[in-house]
Amino acid sequence: MDLWQALPCCFSVLRQTVPEPIQTVCTRWGADPFSLGSYSNVAVGASGDDYDILAENVGDGRVFFAGEATTRRYPAYPATMHGAFLSGLREAANMAHYATILNLQQF
Ligand SMILES: Cc1cc2nc3c(=O)[nH]c(=O)nc-3n(C[C@H](O)[C@H](O)[C@H](O)COP(=O)(O)OP(=O)(O)OC[C@H]3O[C@@H](n4cnc5c(N)ncnc54)[C@H](O)[C@@H]3O)c2cc1C
Repeated sequence: MDLWQALPCCFSVLRQTVPEPIQTVCTRWGADPFSLGSYSNVAVGASGDDYDILAENVGDGRVFFAGEATTRRYPAYPATMHGAFLSGLREAANMAHYATILNLQQF
């Protein structure tokens, strides 16, 4: 399922609507027989700050982002499998943290 199909389903449970994206860019490097994948690179004009921005959650702790391109800080292994894996653990912890806060706010 594509991300843009999944998000409205997830948020409908919360009785919230997700607006249509203004713009999307979706690469398919994994399907390219000459590369079979890709990883992040700090381009000219970019900086490590961009990794931090990609790691920020949105919707007051409702949508979270993992992946090697979010791992400038702990766990700091950009462009690697272990960075991707550890970022998933990081975001699982973040989800648990925000879920606790959101649950507490209901009482
Ligand atoms: C040639 C090559 C060699 C490498 N060698 C090593 C190595 O030796 N050691 C090492 O540690 N790392 C290596 N890496 C890097 C490692 O593969 C990546 O860092 C890691 O796979 C990144 O994982 P990820 O989950 O962040 O992203 P990805 O593995 O890219 O996963 C992203 C997933 O999201 C899916 N997706 C994209 N858009 C959408 C959408 N709109 N809706 C739904 N799904 C979507 C994609 O199909 C993909 O499955 C190598 C990479 C390449 C390309």
